[in-house]
Amino acid sequence: MPPSYPELNPSTRLLLGPGPSAVHPRVLRAMSTPLLGYMDPEFLTLLDETQALLRYVFQTSNALTLPVSGTGMAGMEAILANLLEPDDKILVCAAGYFGNRLEEVALRHGAAVTKIEKPWGEVFAPQEIDAALKQSPAKVVALVHAETSTGALQPLEGMAEVVHRHGALLVLDTVTSLGGVPLKLDEWGVDATYSGTQKCLGCPPGLAPVSVSDRAGAVIRNRNASRKPSAWYFDLELLAKYYGPERVYHHTVSGTLIYALREGARLVAEEGLEQRWARHRANAEYLWDGLKEMDLTPFVPLAQRLPTLTTVRVPEGVDEAKVRGRLRDEYGIEIGAGLGPLKGQVWRVGLMGYSSRKENVTLLLGALGEILK
Ligand code: PLP
Repeated sequence: MPPSYPELNPSTRLLLGPGPSAVHPRVLRAMSTPLLGYMDPEFLTLLDETQALLRYVFQTSNALTLPVSGTGMAGMEAILANLLEPDDKILVCAAGYFGNRLEEVALRHGAAVTKIEKPWGEVFAPQEIDAALKQSPAKVVALVHAETSTGALQPLEGMAEVVHRHGALLVLDTVTSLGGVPLKLDEWGVDATYSGTQKCLGCPPGLAPVSVSDRAGAVIRNRNASRKPSAWYFDLELLAKYYGPERVYHHTVSGTLIYALREGARLVAEEGLEQRWARHRANAEYLWDGLKEMDLTPFVPLAQRLPTLTTVRVPEGVDEAKVRGRLRDEYGIEIGAGLGPLKGQVWRVGLMGYSSRKENVTLLLGALGEILK
């Protein structure tokens, strides 16, 4: 007998965790439209439009701006695999789970990693990067803009100046910041970045928007010819031949996910970046005010607190997993658990993209209040 299961009918969840966030209804609609072939001129126009929209969302004029197939980690792999040749030096700044991931991935691609670490939840100052580069020069410096494991927002002021003074390239993880908090690639001098679609862009997971400056593009072009990027699938020069005017087949890009991203990015453009950043900030502040009234304390001090993801200290004597379970089972709300050293210590509340709405915060605060009563 062949297996027989009921038709798919997942529960409705309010996704207020570290990601994925709620997919915007217009994105869901776009995803149910008919597929086009990956070389259909109509589809190629949609690709061009998606890239133009991504340049707006990233605030860049970088020609090499495209969605890599795969989730945020695919973007991380793509950027590191292309910029680093075996034994190249990279300085990784880690104050959380995703900073550590950068080290892990860079090592897999054969780089020589120097890591500076700070306690989880803290951020780096340009002087610290300067000191580290004086001690050990590097080709690439990697930072996480929005550390989803801690809820800290890394300031970028003065960062590129220091990195460039040392002749290095600045790589920035923007998975939890793109479309949710101010991010200006060109103005800030970021050389390469990768992000994901399932956080502040209101799309499902599956694409990793990346952007590479002309400077970083030249570094990729000038790689030692015998040392091609260590991952064929993520070779940005090959990908650019499909996404650029040459239109050379590389892999079968998911039309459905391109439709989703185009619609998600169109929504960003319609709302306007400034307004979108302000909405994310206002809803986060509404959450922080509500938490305060309930005597719940955010883990990260206000000055470096990330609007798109808040880590909330679990009160003494409270079973954090039980609270999350009740939120899910009784109220249909998902929030996240702490990672690494913050396991059991914090909850992670994401207010990203279509999930970042005042009524969602009201519902969460009400439900939390009922459970903790
Ligand atoms: N970087 C950061 C800051 C993230 O928050 C995440 C995922 O949560 C990633 C990288 C990896 O992205 P993904 O899980 O989409 O592969």
